[in-house]
Amino acid sequence: NASLSEQDPEVYDLVQKEKHRQQSSLELIASENFTSKAVMEANGSPLTNKYSEGLPGARFYGGNEYIDVLENLCRKRALEAFSLDPAVWGVNVQPYSGSTANFAALTGLLAPQDRVMGLDLPSGGHLTHGYQTDKKKISSSSIYFQSMPYRVDQVTGLVDYDALEANTHLFRPRLIICGASAYPRDWDYARLRKIADGHTSFLMADMAHISGLVAAKVQNDPFEYCDVVTTTTHKTLRGPRAGLIFFRKAITFSDGESLESKINAAVFPACQGGPHNNTIAGIAVALRQAASPEFKVYAQQVIKNCKHLCDVLSSAPYNYKLATGGSDNHLLLWDLKPLKLTGSKVEKICDLANITLNKNSIVGDKNAVSPGGVRIGTAALTSRGFVEQDFTKVAEFLHAAVQLSLDIQSHCIQQKQQQQAEGGKSGSTVVLLKEFV
Ligand code: PLP
Repeated sequence: NASLSEQDPEVYDLVQKEKHRQQSSLELIASENFTSKAVMEANGSPLTNKYSEGLPGARFYGGNEYIDVLENLCRKRALEAFSLDPAVWGVNVQPYSGSTANFAALTGLLAPQDRVMGLDLPSGGHLTHGYQTDKKKISSSSIYFQSMPYRVDQVTGLVDYDALEANTHLFRPRLIICGASAYPRDWDYARLRKIADGHTSFLMADMAHISGLVAAKVQNDPFEYCDVVTTTTHKTLRGPRAGLIFFRKAITFSDGESLESKINAAVFPACQGGPHNNTIAGIAVALRQAASPEFKVYAQQVIKNCKHLCDVLSSAPYNYKLATGGSDNHLLLWDLKPLKLTGSKVEKICDLANITLNKNSIVGDKNAVSPGGVRIGTAALTSRGFVEQDFTKVAEFLHAAVQLSLDIQSHCIQQKQQQQAEGGKSGSTVVLLKEFV
């Protein structure tokens, strides 16, 4: 039973390098976080060896006496973390990830080819909310269901609830999905419920990005108005990589089957096999942490840090443009179009400076292939203890990266013009970075 370093130095070395990269860079990817040592310990435990298809008390394998207790504990903690009444809400803690949680939720709620409306990907929605382009159905959520997206207003960057409502009259969706991967504002769940009720549609929130903030009660509560709520467990919730599906127990279908039974059957056997019990243990640990007073302080700080970063970037002397003018949550969208820069250029320069963020489409983008902005999140660095004054420094670094991107861009343009003037023969052109040519 040799350790990883003895057994497989190659993989060990890569793990160490990635650990060093994470610890020595500024992690600003909005979907990432640093999970605790306790979560990692549970996640890397011998529970990974066990098969337990089925649910607690009804398994297809023997030897599940401890796994049953663990899964029930995880379910209990999931309901407690979001202050849910177990008589009203149930939860399935087996989804392997956010994407499988969403597909299982759709499978449980809908019949094949039923109609769904989710926020479009370029507007900040997720692939699994019915994403398709003009030419192609991209996600299984658009391949197996009919999808008509709704969008953000092209001027304000805010979800256009009026247009969504108008389109529900045409499309009559069976399901409206709210929630996003890149939306810096909170959601009007009451309005969405009203829109859904107009067509007896189900309402599902995918709170993947904000679930830690919802648990800490620093965002609007989707549970008040939705029938189903899904989430990943590894973003602001700071757990291992997995998904959860919450469902209202009272809902039943015309065939007499309950939503609870449909969702559970959708997870297993429809979409998945044996649950990853090591991950479920990690989720249980993370949920206990998320219910603590310290976590509430953490979530408040995530938002304070994001608001502060927005303020610094958007006011003098920087005066940069942010989509929607700021943020209510853990992320901001920085519109680089006024600088005539693309998100991929800034992402590349930041990468070279050990600042990790991602290019992102921004309201008003003409070209979906080359997005006009970057997405920045504060959850990970807040886990490392960053407060407002640290984010003032982060803003300075980001400003320097953007200025450097502009300098390199103008240098590349000059080089290109010189090459053209010399009839394309110049051997002097130094191609610095492919993003800039
Ligand atoms: N839902 C939303 C809103 C997300 O942002 C993401 C991932 O970023 C997912 C679902 C998918 O999660 P996973 O990558 O775990 O499949």
